[in-house]
Amino acid sequence: MMQDAPPPPPIIDCGKHAFFLDFDGTLAEIVARPEEAQITAHMRDLIGRLVDRTDGAVAVVSGRSLADVDRLMSPLVLPVAGSHGSELRGYDGAQQTDTDRKIDPDALQRITGFARQTGLQAEQKPGSAALHYRSAPDRAQDSIALIDDLAATDDRYRAVHGKMVSELALCAHDKGTALAHFANSAPFAGRVPVMVGDDVTDEDGFRRAQALGGMGIKIGAGETIAAHRLNSIGAFSRWLEDIIR
Ligand SMILES: [Mg+2]
Repeated sequence: MMQDAPPPPPIIDCGKHAFFLDFDGTLAEIVARPEEAQITAHMRDLIGRLVDRTDGAVAVVSGRSLADVDRLMSPLVLPVAGSHGSELRGYDGAQQTDTDRKIDPDALQRITGFARQTGLQAEQKPGSAALHYRSAPDRAQDSIALIDDLAATDDRYRAVHGKMVSELALCAHDKGTALAHFANSAPFAGRVPVMVGDDVTDEDGFRRAQALGGMGIKIGAGETIAAHRLNSIGAFSRWLEDIIR
């Protein structure tokens, strides 16, 4: 198959841009156990400087819960869209969580039951339930099939298949809706949005950023609608150094 080859992003004036950053695979290497992920001191320092250069127009947009993102970014406290946009905390600290919509207990039970049987990790988040199979990649097909099956039974759900994780998520939120939410308010409003991510769920963010006149930057391999690609987290940090300088 021909792989499309989006060029690397240009060196932009970060003072005119707003940044929406995925966490796993973008700010930190993906690890076997998601709770053990860590951002390097160097990357944290770069993000802190980017915050300064943009008057705070830097948000983390992650499938992780908001609390988890805060723990991983500490001592930085940034605007965060957690759980694929079900939890939002803006620059002003105001938080909104969509607690009205939840995954049904029956569906949840099938996911946790399957995880128990197979030794996988199940994770319940606002707006989604995830099956992590990085510790047992041979369970990928079964995990994907289970989530697809649950998503097919109820049109409030969608299946979200990421790297070594499959999630049953509510349709109401995605990284694109999260980006649009932030893009309307200070300090993001009036800036050109830049969405950076490595995985399938980031495509909603790329699409929305580009629809708003901005750019998507895909980290690593894989098909994408992003206009730009950087091959690794290392390449992303070098690009950050260039635009912050
Ligand atoms: Mg990611």
